[in-house]
Amino acid sequence: MLIDTHCHIAGDEFVDDLSAVVARAREAGVQQAICILDATARVELERVPGVRTAWPGVAFAVGVHPHHAGKVSVDEVEALVGAALEETGAVAVGEIGLDYHYDFSPRAQQQAVFGRQISLAVARDLPIVIHTREADADTLEVIDTAGGGRARGVFHCFTGDQALAEAAVARGFHLSFSGIATFPRAESIREVAAWVPADRWLVETDSPYLSPAPQRGGRNEPGRVGRVLDTVARVRGMSLDEAAEQAYTNAAALFGISGPNR
Ligand SMILES: [Zn+2]
Ligand SMILES: [Zn+2]
Repeated sequence: MLIDTHCHIAGDEFVDDLSAVVARAREAGVQQAICILDATARVELERVPGVRTAWPGVAFAVGVHPHHAGKVSVDEVEALVGAALEETGAVAVGEIGLDYHYDFSPRAQQQAVFGRQISLAVARDLPIVIHTREADADTLEVIDTAGGGRARGVFHCFTGDQALAEAAVARGFHLSFSGIATFPRAESIREVAAWVPADRWLVETDSPYLSPAPQRGGRNEPGRVGRVLDTVARVRGMSLDEAAEQAYTNAAALFGISGPNR
């Protein structure tokens, strides 16, 4: 039982061949996925029924990504995401966070939109899926301020350092590893993957982004999550079967999902 805990298969990149993508995932043993939706993109929300039909094992997360924080008014973000949660039956709020690498939205706006979505998730007792880039200190501060110690969730596509990993785990968060952990120069990420407590790690593809080695570049897809799992299993000294079971158990606990065979 493998699960890809972060992919964007309701995006434009998968419109033409989603059923083939799902077939390849199942063939690779990936029975489930968390599909991340952009709450500001009507077209993605409207694809949800089709994605559910193509892949009954999919669960959804919906939120306003920091790149799009400038598109919404702070006072409206909770209503927007709340409605999207109801419409899609999503099990998490995300991805949300801060991205100071691209700075597509002003930082104060990113922080406010992030904070409001954390409050919403806490009020509904839902996990959050965090995107953070070059914004470690502010990300932790917004989590603490808006979450009041009650926010839970995952730092997706973890590329931070050991200090961020420890801060996240101390707050009860999970870390999710992506194809970046397979890259030759990513030794520090593999060290975090070896260190993280057994019940706090997940794996993801972030499809269509981030193809794992050796197929770097091109469209990524959920069927490749096993490459990431392979790396995590190796550095943790686990068999692939044990690692798959642990990754599934961790994801099921965090997102409150259960598989077709459970
Ligand atoms: Zn992201
Ligand atoms: Zn993503």
